[in-house]
Amino acid sequence: MDAPTEPPAAAPRRTIRFDVLTLFPGIFESYVGQSLLADAVAAGLVQVNTWNIRDWTLNKHDRVDDRPFGGGPGMVLMAQPVLDAVEAVQAKAEAPGAVVMLTPAGERLTQRVVEDLARDPRLLLLCGRYEGFDDRIRQTLNPRELSIGDFVCNGGEVPAMVVIDAVIRLIPGVLGDEQSAADESHSEPGRLEYPQFTRPRSFRGLDVPDVLLSGNHAAVAKWRREQSERRSRKE
Ligand code: SAM
Repeated sequence: MDAPTEPPAAAPRRTIRFDVLTLFPGIFESYVGQSLLADAVAAGLVQVNTWNIRDWTLNKHDRVDDRPFGGGPGMVLMAQPVLDAVEAVQAKAEAPGAVVMLTPAGERLTQRVVEDLARDPRLLLLCGRYEGFDDRIRQTLNPRELSIGDFVCNGGEVPAMVVIDAVIRLIPGVLGDEQSAADESHSEPGRLEYPQFTRPRSFRGLDVPDVLLSGNHAAVAKWRREQSERRSRKE
């Protein structure tokens, strides 16, 4: 008789911790408390901590910004409160996180970058405001600089939410069906998803393609593959 075999050890649960450094932590309150992210937080898969950079200022008027040397419009985030905040927040967990600076001058955020970020157990997201960061913050931290696109937002908070939103989809257990993330647009470079339909079958004279109602799984898969290829070629 064969000796009883040990059941295979369960793979360690992958979790991710975000530490967001911002001047406006309140912006995240509603976002973190809703939908998939709220569920992922409740399940212990994702942690989102927000930290107010102003709490680290040594300025007696609580200022975190000042005028740019050389002149010009606007204000620049000072190095001292930002660097002190990053160092203090890094010390809040056993392992330091990868520092991500949100900046329009950064590497463009793509699904490949998102996949890369999702491998990290801890990310510090640094949100700028006003005219951006004193460059010595970048020189000191050597962060990963990320841009969500070639346009300028008022602050790094919405870009940070974009990063969190995209990254958590790749943490096992966050989506109801893991296949969702695997089949999606951009899961392969340049690939776009096929069109989707739900009830009713007919709406304002527009009908769901017959093949999707056929119950023929092979035909459905073939149609979806073809539609996905057509969309990806932008036909
Ligand atoms: N003066 C800066 C420039 O021209 O590059 C823009 C500063 S912007 C008004 C303020 C902050 O918003 C930035 O420091 C950055 O954190 C964030 N931000 C704006 N656009 C962004 C983008 N496309 N991607 C990532 N972060 C962005």
